[in-house]
Amino acid sequence: MPIFKKPPFRGNADKKRDMPEGLWHKCPGCGEVIHELELKKSLRVCPHCNYHFTLSAPASKPPRTPPNPAPIPINNALPSGSPDSN
Ligand SMILES: [Zn+2]
Repeated sequence: MPIFKKPPFRGNADKKRDMPEGLWHKCPGCGEVIHELELKKSLRVCPHCNYHFTLSAPASKPPRTPPNPAPIPINNALPSGSPDSN
């Protein structure tokens, strides 16, 4: 039984975590890495291969569908049953 436990090797895993998320995008068309500002300037089109990145809906815009209307109350005074069963 060892006295000291060997720490697991993690390589450069800690260095990768220093990179902020969402700043760099890898183009699925050509594999080039493009900065977010460069993508915004080119209207989300890859400057190397003209691949069109997907656009996300702006959060400031309201939804296009109107909100649900108020529920219509069911009139319980109406008689139930078939009109033929007199
Ligand atoms: Zn590309």
